[in-house]
Amino acid sequence: MRLPKFEYLEAKNVKDITSLLKKNKEAVIVAGGTDILPKMKQRIVTPKFVINVTKIEDLKKIEFGEKKGLALGSLVTLDAVSKSKPVVEKFTALAQASGRVASSQIRNMGTIGGNISIESMCMYYNQSHEWRKGRPHLCFKLGGDRCFVAKGSKECLALFQADTPPALIALGAKVTIVDGTGKEKVIDIEKFYTQKSKKVNILKATDFVKQIQIPTPPKGTGSCYLKMAQREAIDYPVAGAAACVTVSGGKCKNARIAVTAIGGGPLRLKNAEEILIGNTITDELIEKAADAAYEKVRPMPHFNISVWYKRKLIRVLVKRSIKQACNKAV
Ligand SMILES: Cc1cc2nc3c(=O)[nH]c(=O)nc-3n(C[C@H](O)[C@H](O)[C@H](O)COP(=O)(O)OP(=O)(O)OC[C@H]3O[C@@H](n4cnc5c(N)ncnc54)[C@H](O)[C@@H]3O)c2cc1C
Ligand code: SF4
Repeated sequence: MRLPKFEYLEAKNVKDITSLLKKNKEAVIVAGGTDILPKMKQRIVTPKFVINVTKIEDLKKIEFGEKKGLALGSLVTLDAVSKSKPVVEKFTALAQASGRVASSQIRNMGTIGGNISIESMCMYYNQSHEWRKGRPHLCFKLGGDRCFVAKGSKECLALFQADTPPALIALGAKVTIVDGTGKEKVIDIEKFYTQKSKKVNILKATDFVKQIQIPTPPKGTGSCYLKMAQREAIDYPVAGAAACVTVSGGKCKNARIAVTAIGGGPLRLKNAEEILIGNTITDELIEKAADAAYEKVRPMPHFNISVWYKRKLIRVLVKRSIKQACNKAV
């Protein structure tokens, strides 16, 4: 499949991105291109302008200081995130999540900013133009009036399947967004997501993700991300779970748990966290937290994977990720 015709634009700095996005209404940003270029080939998006942002070296930096925490430029590749020494040592869940995306080729190109900004997917939407042409109406996500997957549904039920967002939520990350006026705002990564499959994040057409920041975890913190996919590589998660736990004297001081691939966005499981916080960590307590995760999630069926199986899977992944996070807490 060939790319559709478009005009190529190049940004040399963040200011350029803002002015190019403002000037050219039907423009898209291309970072690693591993998500957007296949979508253009399938004619899911047919932008008039493509803005290459990969020449901006300032956004390819990983900075870490004990006091300042971790700052990841949005153009840092997933491969670099997964191999960075401070990320591996202090933000293990993020290193694991980045290292499990797709394949080494895709991780060498794909960026952390692109990973948090990908859209939800479904078996109708993510097909070729020729395939969709056989269905004369468009679905909600393509601006139409129906859903082809869940017939009769009044809303889009496509699945968000990015790997790094649950790890970033568990680690308490914040996102710096530059808006169309050039103003920067910093928001909790949880607020970056709408939980609506039709448009999973809050980004407007002229917004750009500049940086992701994560505070240094306190002493006694461990984190873990676990993913189950149908294939070992080049596959989105069937489900993924991340936990970040701070332990002192055998007691849980703090816990953050989030999951992916269950709905229209990554979901934080506060009910499971509440079971852990303030209590002595035991296998029984972790089982109870996993039960709470099972109760909370209402996943969508997904190809040949039933709702029942997915809920069970989330329970197992949450339990194991908490256990491994506790084992790493030093
Ligand atoms: C075969 C295959 C397997 C895959 N498997 C996985 C997987 O297992 N797990 C997973 O999470 N993903 C997977 N992906 C999706 C994708 O490769 C990754 O999510 C990757 O991190 C996307 O980053 P990118 O830089 O290539 O994004 P791009 O393709 O450049 O962009 C993706 C989207 O984000 C927007 N965007 C990019 N950067 C910014 C920014 N800084 N600010 C605002 N908007 C921005 C773009 O406009 C576009 O809409 C897979 C893709 C393929 C083709
Ligand atoms: S789930 Fe969403 S993207 Fe898929 S067909 Fe239904 S409306 Fe379209």
